[in-house]
Amino acid sequence: MRDKDCIFCKIAAGEIPSATLYEDEDFRVILDLGPASKGHALILPKDHFRNLYDIDEEVLAKAMVLAKKMVKKMTDVLGCDGYNIVQNNEECAGQTVFHFHMHLIPRYKDDQVGLEWKVGELTEEVKNEILEKMK
Ligand code: 5GP
Ligand code: ZN
Repeated sequence: MRDKDCIFCKIAAGEIPSATLYEDEDFRVILDLGPASKGHALILPKDHFRNLYDIDEEVLAKAMVLAKKMVKKMTDVLGCDGYNIVQNNEECAGQTVFHFHMHLIPRYKDDQVGLEWKVGELTEEVKNEILEKMK
């Protein structure tokens, strides 16, 4: 399923050119145009899903397996020291393109990639509230 107005549908289908690192029948992996670090790539399913809330589970499972393959290969190619996998869902979480994608972000010792957050505290009250609601 495609969305005719979606830029990542067009890129995944090859209708808009991209720096493609890998392609198969389900996915295209491209270099991000605004990289957080050298080699920052995106895994794009060829079918359109808005994000994690609605992606097909079989496609999602394949995406994770592909992420592992890409990270292993690209670690050799780039000589990076580690990787972050980032996947944003909805605007408040930083999603700007509403076609599911996984960011593969190579990390280099002492790089300035900022994926940190302010560490909070898990209070008894909040812990119990969530545990209760999850039952
Ligand atoms: P999000 O913020 O939705 O998780 O990530 C969207 C990502 O897509 C951003 O990192 C942005 O740089 C990248 N991006 C947006 N438009 C294009 C494009 O046309 N081509 C490529 N290669 N990357 C894009
Ligand atoms: Zn799309």
